[in-house]
Amino acid sequence: MSALAPVIRIESVSKNFGSFEVLKNVSSTVHASEVIVLCGLSGSGKSTLIRTISALEPIREGKIIVDGVDVHARGTDANLLRRGIGFVFQSFNLFPHLSALDNVAIGLRRLMKLSKGEAHRRSHLLLERVGLSHRAAYMPADLSGGEQQRVAIARALSMQPKVMLFDEPTSALDPEMVGEVLKVIKDLSAEGMTMICVTHEMNFAREVADWIWLMEAGEIIEKARPAEFFENPQHASARRFVQSHL
Ligand code: ADP
Ligand code: MG
Repeated sequence: MSALAPVIRIESVSKNFGSFEVLKNVSSTVHASEVIVLCGLSGSGKSTLIRTISALEPIREGKIIVDGVDVHARGTDANLLRRGIGFVFQSFNLFPHLSALDNVAIGLRRLMKLSKGEAHRRSHLLLERVGLSHRAAYMPADLSGGEQQRVAIARALSMQPKVMLFDEPTSALDPEMVGEVLKVIKDLSAEGMTMICVTHEMNFAREVADWIWLMEAGEIIEKARPAEFFENPQHASARRFVQSHL
C-alpha cells in the first residue's frame, strides 16, 4: 500500500444505542503515519468511534476500512482484524497473574504461536522500547500506573499493529506519571506509527497531533491542524472547548 493511501477510512458511519444516536453520519480519513488527537466533552462519542474502528462495537450504517479491510463486512474475521489494530484502554487491563514480560509475550505465544524463547526475546525488546526492561519480572500490582500502561502499550505493539488507538491512556494516572506515557506515544509517532489518541492533554495535542478532531453529540464538528485549532477554531463549540481546556 502506498504511503499516501488512507490507513483508516470512516465513511458515513451512524450508530445507535437503542433510540440514542451516538454517531451521526461520521466521515473521516487517517493517512499513514498521521497522529490524530480526538477530543470532545464526555459523552460526545469518542470512545464509541474508536471502538467501532477496531470492531469492538458494531455500526448501523456506513463503512470503516482499516488497511484495506472492511471492518464491519460480514466476512471479516474480527479477531484477526483486531490483531492489526493496537488498542490501549484507560484502565490498563493487564493480566494480574502474569509478569510484565508474560503480559507482553502472551499474544506472541497464543496468537502468533511463537516459541517461549522467541516470544520472550521479542517481549524484552518491546519492554526496552517503552523503557521498562528493568521491570520484566514484576507483577502488575508491583508496577506504578504509568508503568502498567507502558506494559499495555508494549503488549499492543507485540502484534505489530498497523494502527494504534488510545482511549484516554493517561486519564487514570496520577499526574506525575502522565508524562512518561505521553513520551512513549510521542516516540511511536516519531517512528511513523499511525494513531488516533483520545485525550484531554492539550499540550500533547499541540505538540504531537497532525490533526485534531473535535466531537460533539456524535459528530466531528471540527478537524484542524493544531495551530489552527488552538488559535482560530471555526466552530463556536470549538472556541468554547479550547477556552476551557487552556
Ligand atoms: P465519550 O467517550 O466521548 O465520553 P462515549 O462514546 O463513551 O463518549 O459515549 C457516548 C454516549 O453513548 C454517552 O451518552 C454514553 O452514555 C452512551 N453510551 C456509551 N456506551 C453505551 C452503551 N453500551 N449503551 C448505551 N449507551 C451507551
Ligand atoms: Mg470515552
